[in-house]
Amino acid sequence: MNTRKDLMELAREVNNASRALNNQMVNFLADLVRIKSYTGEEGPAVERTLQELKTIGCDKVWMDSAGNALGQIGTGRNLILFNGHLDTNEIADENEWPHPPLEPVIKNGVMYGLGTSDCKGGVAPIVYAGAIIKTLGLSDDFTLLIMGATLEEDAEGFALRSLIEKDGIKPDVVVICEASDMTLRVGQRGRCEIRVHTTGKAAHASHPHHGENAILKMIPIMEAIEKMKAAFPSHPVFGKDDQVITLISGPHTPNTVPSWCEIAIDRRLMSGETMDSILKEIQNVVEPLGGHAWIPDQPVLTHTGQRLDGPSFYPGFLLSENSPLLAACQATHQALWGKPAEVDVWKFSTDATYSAGVAGIPSIGFGPQEAEYCHTPEDQIDLEKMRKAAAFYALFPFLYCHELRQ
Ligand SMILES: [Zn+2]
Repeated sequence: MNTRKDLMELAREVNNASRALNNQMVNFLADLVRIKSYTGEEGPAVERTLQELKTIGCDKVWMDSAGNALGQIGTGRNLILFNGHLDTNEIADENEWPHPPLEPVIKNGVMYGLGTSDCKGGVAPIVYAGAIIKTLGLSDDFTLLIMGATLEEDAEGFALRSLIEKDGIKPDVVVICEASDMTLRVGQRGRCEIRVHTTGKAAHASHPHHGENAILKMIPIMEAIEKMKAAFPSHPVFGKDDQVITLISGPHTPNTVPSWCEIAIDRRLMSGETMDSILKEIQNVVEPLGGHAWIPDQPVLTHTGQRLDGPSFYPGFLLSENSPLLAACQATHQALWGKPAEVDVWKFSTDATYSAGVAGIPSIGFGPQEAEYCHTPEDQIDLEKMRKAAAFYALFPFLYCHELRQ
């Protein structure tokens, strides 16, 4: 590709190919929606994705040790990973859904069904980006990995950590295909769970003065935790940190002075905060009041039977403004639609917490899904946006290599 005219011609071909393959892509998404795939139970959805990755002609298709579905195209130097997750949030009350959640319905160009917005509607276009690349023979100095990821809803980043640390695959850049409504997401807030425990002394409730009430000990601790927020730092992009007490528990014995009490805190982080820095902050507040604080482990069992437990700490990230990854995404958007994409950050956490937040791999978000429908009975995806996203993902690897040569 030498000129702007060549690029426009290429963008037109990619767009045309995305239209030609659209029915196949929509059918694949419908199949994925029909397959129930709660976190840790993704086996059948992974199988179906592997089958599609073979059908569209990936050079290599496999399941890694953590049970992620993977398809590879090309063998070039620049390793690009597209990540979309196959597990879905659980259905709270099926009666609230306008259509049965596992029966995809298409109306006015919109598909309804569980996981369409989070995140199967991101998986289908990355698989079909592969199909477009294969159809057009769009090769360059890249290896593209298409990942139907597992475990994201309960423990984002854990399955990606396994791919990179256990299976030894080290991408140069990661594109996270979660809901962004066709805008680019150059960062995300992190999150962390903290537990605080108080210990008292049990006694018969008829003689409370013989005991020590652990729930009453927790009250000043909770007040102090609430007051911490006033002094939280503020970030120009992410705003202020936030935290909320989300759980409280104690012994289930209504006629006994409680000997223990435990609370959970959900803390939202900006980029750069560490497990140690957050824990120290909380400890400084709760320890003088007699509380004990720690970051618990998130238990995780893969559908392949592996334990991947790890700390419930999910750091945020912010991509450099000068990153070639961002430049290539903008070049792709510009080539396809004649203008740069809007740029923002995610308030929620994704698999990029590992790739960017822990491993330091430049990561960016782009997806056709709309965040307002995620985890709701109105779960849906605009199929025209999904088609356009497939064109975006297909053109991107080529323009990323082009960007590196600039
Ligand atoms: Zn998601």
